[in-house]
Amino acid sequence: MTCKGICVRHKAQKPVGSGRYASGQKRCQICEIFIKWDGLWCPCCGYRLRTKPRNLKYKAKLRARTKKIMEPLTAPVITA
Ligand SMILES: [Zn+2]
Ligand SMILES: [Zn+2]
Repeated sequence: MTCKGICVRHKAQKPVGSGRYASGQKRCQICEIFIKWDGLWCPCCGYRLRTKPRNLKYKAKLRARTKKIMEPLTAPVITA
C-alpha cells in the first residue's frame, strides 16, 4: 500500500464555511491527502478512507467506558 500519485488528481480544496468531512471529502492516511471521492477506498493506494474527523475527547471517553470489554478501536465503522 503506497501512494502512486493518483490521489493528487482528486485532491480536494479546503472548503469555506464548513468542515472537510462535512462537505464530503475523505482523508487518506497513506497518501496524507484529502480527496473528493465517492468510494470508501483510496483510488490511489487502495487503503480505507477516513470519512469522519477524529474526536479525541469522545474516543477517550469511549475507551474509559469500554476498558473491561477491550473493544478493538481500529474496527471500521460504516454509517453511510
Ligand atoms: Zn496517493
Ligand atoms: Zn491513498
